[in-house]
Amino acid sequence: MLRIGCSVVLVLAAIKAGMAGAATLSVEDFTFEGPLGSQGATIEKVGENHFKVSLGAAPGHPDWNNRPQFTIFRNATGNSLRLDVEFDGGAAYYFNEYAFSYSYDGEHWHPVHWQNGPKVDKQRDTLLFPQFEQDVVYVGHQVPMSYEKLQELVSAWRKSPLVTVHVLGKSLEGRDLYRLEITDPGSGVPREKRWVHFFANQHPGEHNSQWRMAGMIDWMLRDDAADFRRRSICHFVPMMSPDAPSKGWYRVNAQGCDMNRTYLYAGADKARQAYEAYIVQSDLEALMASEAPPVTVWSIHTWGGKTDPRIIAGPEMTEDGLGPWTRFRDLLEKHDVNDVVRTLEEWPLKESSVNQWTEGAHTQFGITAILCEGGGALYTQAENVESGEVIMKAIADYYAGTRE
Ligand SMILES: [Zn+2]
Repeated sequence: MLRIGCSVVLVLAAIKAGMAGAATLSVEDFTFEGPLGSQGATIEKVGENHFKVSLGAAPGHPDWNNRPQFTIFRNATGNSLRLDVEFDGGAAYYFNEYAFSYSYDGEHWHPVHWQNGPKVDKQRDTLLFPQFEQDVVYVGHQVPMSYEKLQELVSAWRKSPLVTVHVLGKSLEGRDLYRLEITDPGSGVPREKRWVHFFANQHPGEHNSQWRMAGMIDWMLRDDAADFRRRSICHFVPMMSPDAPSKGWYRVNAQGCDMNRTYLYAGADKARQAYEAYIVQSDLEALMASEAPPVTVWSIHTWGGKTDPRIIAGPEMTEDGLGPWTRFRDLLEKHDVNDVVRTLEEWPLKESSVNQWTEGAHTQFGITAILCEGGGALYTQAENVESGEVIMKAIADYYAGTRE
């Protein structure tokens, strides 16, 4: 039986090799448009299944590359791929800092790593893909999340009676700016007695952090969060720059604004603020003025390593209150059984950063602010999702009972 199995495999391999020989990839098989795209990218053939991609730049930033996201929309089966990527504009926010992923269905993603990394060269690097098993292949930054994927997720989440989807407005290109509110509408705890938390993703290309937030939302809808939902309200803005994934923009909106540099601690101001940031900050201000104002505001980002939260503690984090911030740190450690979250540290409040989302919200409202970074070393959707669950479990434990 084993010998027969082996010869079948060999025959299949020979058929595949024959197919690959008959139809290797051509530049016409690639597109840089679609839900995961790369504005301004060009591609040329270098050799058999070997191509060079030259990246375009972000709006307003000729030195910031757009991430090399693309679709092979036909003919991939049996072909491997060597992709040399280069960006002539400069070495800021280099494209080879994080792993990329590929998928045959836009659901299941496989990491693919740069051959050299930024220590060797920040403007040129190579991705080597294994022999493809299907004709259509999607490639994106980190574990990507397109706006269309977010719409799918929101459609599924909103079926739950625990979820209210608020569309805060439209992006400059007309996409919805979502805030999901999750709480138990049948809870006997009055809204003003519930703990309230606010989470928002600023940098659109930091996709691992968006999956972290998806993990937070999924956990909140599970049975083990029932008690937490009765005495808490959580708000999630999963994508503050939804025009970005189809362009490969890493940090900006259509105006070229770095989306984490768009807070105004003196108050939202339409004339002075990035378009989408004004909409989201105005909404946060309305929440803060409501009967149930947030006690924490989380900025959701990706940098290297595991998920990596940093905290500016607010007034509830005292010995006489819920306990010092270190108690929250210890609860994170307790729930982090698979070590996907780095130990919580304090984040210094620098005056120069006062118009970033973490520092800005803390300065404006005096509440606990968390810069939730990291996740660059979590190469799978599952690990990023898990890190979001860990955070929510720690929040549920630390914010015990109800508000004073
Ligand atoms: Zn960021």
